[in-house]
Amino acid sequence: MLNPDDLVARVRRYDPDADVGLVAKAFDFSLEAHSTQTRASGEPYFSHPLEVAGILTDMRLDAASIATALLHDTVEDTVATLDQIDTQFGAEIAQLVDGVTKLTMLEHVRPTKQSREAENFRKLLLAMSNDLRVLIVKLADRLHNMRTLNFIGSTEKRHRIAAETMDIYAPLAERIGMHAIKDELEDLSFAELNPEARESILGRLEYLRTESGDAIAKITSELERTLSSAGLDATAFGREKRPYSIWRKMERKNISFEQLADVMAFRILVEDDDDCYRALGIVHRAWPMIPERFKDFISTPKPNGYRSVHTTVIGPEKRRIEIQICTRDMNEVAEHGVAAHWQYKDGGAIKESAQQFSWIRQLLEMLEHGGHPEEFLEHTKLEMYQDQVFCFTPKGGLIALPRGATPVDFAYAVHTNVGDTCVGAKVNGRIAPLRTALENGDQIEIMRSSAQTPSPTWLYFVVTGKARSAIRRFVRVQQDQQYVDLGSAIVRRAFEQAGHPLNSKALDRALTVLNLKSEEELYAHVGQGFASGKEVVSIVFPAETERRIPSFVRSAIRRVRADKNVDRAIPIKGLIKGVAVHFADCCHPLPGDRIVGILTEGKGVRIHTIDCEILRSLSSSPERWLDVSWDVGPDSQEVHLGRIKVTLSNEPGSLNALTGVIAKNNANITNLKVSNRSDDFFEFLVDVEVRDVKHLTGMIAALRADDGIHKVDRVRA
Ligand code: MN
Repeated sequence: MLNPDDLVARVRRYDPDADVGLVAKAFDFSLEAHSTQTRASGEPYFSHPLEVAGILTDMRLDAASIATALLHDTVEDTVATLDQIDTQFGAEIAQLVDGVTKLTMLEHVRPTKQSREAENFRKLLLAMSNDLRVLIVKLADRLHNMRTLNFIGSTEKRHRIAAETMDIYAPLAERIGMHAIKDELEDLSFAELNPEARESILGRLEYLRTESGDAIAKITSELERTLSSAGLDATAFGREKRPYSIWRKMERKNISFEQLADVMAFRILVEDDDDCYRALGIVHRAWPMIPERFKDFISTPKPNGYRSVHTTVIGPEKRRIEIQICTRDMNEVAEHGVAAHWQYKDGGAIKESAQQFSWIRQLLEMLEHGGHPEEFLEHTKLEMYQDQVFCFTPKGGLIALPRGATPVDFAYAVHTNVGDTCVGAKVNGRIAPLRTALENGDQIEIMRSSAQTPSPTWLYFVVTGKARSAIRRFVRVQQDQQYVDLGSAIVRRAFEQAGHPLNSKALDRALTVLNLKSEEELYAHVGQGFASGKEVVSIVFPAETERRIPSFVRSAIRRVRADKNVDRAIPIKGLIKGVAVHFADCCHPLPGDRIVGILTEGKGVRIHTIDCEILRSLSSSPERWLDVSWDVGPDSQEVHLGRIKVTLSNEPGSLNALTGVIAKNNANITNLKVSNRSDDFFEFLVDVEVRDVKHLTGMIAALRADDGIHKVDRVRA
């Protein structure tokens, strides 16, 4: 096991200025926190974070990454808290440790291994790794766990971890260009998942080795000799390809091991870009090249930052060999990918590259020198993951949503039906408001009720188009029905009051004039306030409507005369018997209002409220003013017409609120007309039947208490 001095020495070796105090402190903290724990191998648990830190020193990562590796399991597995880490190590380390902890917790909800889910899971891990060092530490963590996989007793568990490594972590390592880790992760998984195939490949490699002597050493020295005699200082390395990459090639090309031409790979390291091409020329002059195998990733780097020249020649010993030529810097990137950006370099330019995803910008710059559009797209997508959240269903399915998405969006993403019947949500097991903004890795359980329907208020917070359009569609249908019901009541009453039958002939006439298609449309038209009930009557019976008011007055007079209980019929005291009485439609007086009667020649008495504007113009003729008062018994169920002006926000549901509150207050809408309208607001004049002022005032108060209703006033003139 490494001791703190070894670890510090390793870091010092590649970065003399590193904050080794930080590393030593993290070492002590982790050792203390994990003190009582052991691993499956029986070793002290601390050996694990220590080895992970060791892996990162091999990659020459900065001190913060090494400290994070040491601390990476303390928050999840020990009594240590993130606050403690923050206090003792500062915000940067705390954020890194928190990031790794979150990725680790995701392993517990890891979904089934369907390939689409695997891709989403990789995106989730990338999206959550705001700082890519988080992902690098996580990959090193996984690598050490894979190296020690054999200590886990359960075959099923070993298999699950290996499959997950193959599906998720190895491709992620490749995505960010960490080939060394990717190769090892794949090979360790391969050993667990398909040990027979791996053994057979190893056996054949062994056979080749004994048959041809030490081919790798011979070819390597031959390459170096050829290059140096041409005056180029270069180092050559050779290795057998990894069993898994050989296996993949055999699978992909559907060929046998014997048909596989190149099981060895060679790499030539030189000083700079120019030397790469010089080395290439020397190699091509010395041995015949195989034309279709030549690739120049220096002029056109791979999207993950990989740069090198590849060629295959019939080389020394007449063997077909694959050669990669690159500089030492390029080699670092080839081995460690993005991690190379955090490595200590001469002059130590580490900080700058620690910016979030700056490496993507670098890649984009590289792509400008002639990359494939699909690759370009793939990497702009990568940046877009930052605008997404990935959430789990209770069964572990993964759903991608735009940032800011809520449980309602999630419900609609699962299925329209789930959204429509959603009544509540549990986020990570706890009941949460439906407007909660979801976060990466949240597990969402939608609670449903078949009695539920989408609420228009959801429109204020949903962010996905699918949810929005489903709610709108529903609200529109529902609201249409409200308008139809309201309009129908208004039209019926208007015809009733005018003493006309509302038959199909009358309806046809109204539809023709208003250019509407159906009875429902007519009612919706009136319900929305585009026409009043009286207007519909006047369309159907134009001539009679003109005479309607006088005839109404006449019939009122007749009724008063015919009725023996005059006082009860007209609830006003102080009137001369036989005089027609009606209520002014400027101020709509109600029992409880202070009132005055105005005698109008030939038209009887008109009742106004005492503060009605009209009265000012009549002040010069006091002889016409009659002192009257209400005569309404306390149990009277008689209703009177009041008028209110209501301003509603132009939003679904606000009309619903208006009619609902009025109905709840046992009042009746007899007419409704839009008096003003803007994008934001509707202003309605609403005629309501109420018993008295108290009834109306109570109703107005209830309306004012409703959120969707902006302003309510009684109309008095
Ligand atoms: Mn770990």
